[in-house]
Amino acid sequence: MQKKLDEGVYFIEGQDDMIPDSNVYVLADASGEDLTLVDAGLVGKGAYKLESIKRLGFEIGHIRRIIMTHTHLDHLGCAPEILEQVPNAELWVHAEEAEPLEQGDDRIVFGMPALRDMCFSQLEIHPETLLLKVNRKLQDDETLNLGGETWRVVHIPGHSPGCIALYNASKKILIPGDVVYSDHAIGRFDLHGANSAAHRASLYRLAELKVDMLLPGHERVMETVPAGYIEETVKQWEQYM
Ligand SMILES: [Zn+2]
Ligand SMILES: [Zn+2]
Repeated sequence: MQKKLDEGVYFIEGQDDMIPDSNVYVLADASGEDLTLVDAGLVGKGAYKLESIKRLGFEIGHIRRIIMTHTHLDHLGCAPEILEQVPNAELWVHAEEAEPLEQGDDRIVFGMPALRDMCFSQLEIHPETLLLKVNRKLQDDETLNLGGETWRVVHIPGHSPGCIALYNASKKILIPGDVVYSDHAIGRFDLHGANSAAHRASLYRLAELKVDMLLPGHERVMETVPAGYIEETVKQWEQYM
């Protein structure tokens, strides 16, 4: 399923299997010739994501970049499949996860050794498939011009060390990856590189932003976010963090 959420902002719903597949958001300029994908998805979902982009009326050759909210397998896994079809597209990742990724350290990608073993035996992946070159290493508080709109990079570690959110202050749209979801859910904080205190602090940082639309890494989007939603969510969880 794919749909338009706002001018230049589109949603491609994750297609979960035994392992979840992340949602993808497409940020497009008015001409449709400068497309940004926020996250890619699970290994094997590249064709589905590219087909959905065509169904939205875009040409896949117009994908200029993929920005990762973080490099867990369910977000990064099909980036190589997309980059194979669109070789000029760039990959942008926060510096804290770009470095291990480029060095072939996949502990963050898989989160835990058992998942790595299962993926190598059941999915068609090899360690070198995920050895990707990062074209731009993102930093906290950078301003990105994507599709004619200004999006701010907010570094929100905790779920993983290099988690970022993209925030559009004029549209009040937040893309928080796996840090906070709809229905008062938050990302897990028990995988390699996770840190519950940092996760809590990151949630409080997001709670300071004015958010009308929340576009999380999994499950449904929240097209109308009640005031105080993120703060209320972190308060429900912090006793366990
Ligand atoms: Zn994740
Ligand atoms: Zn995820």
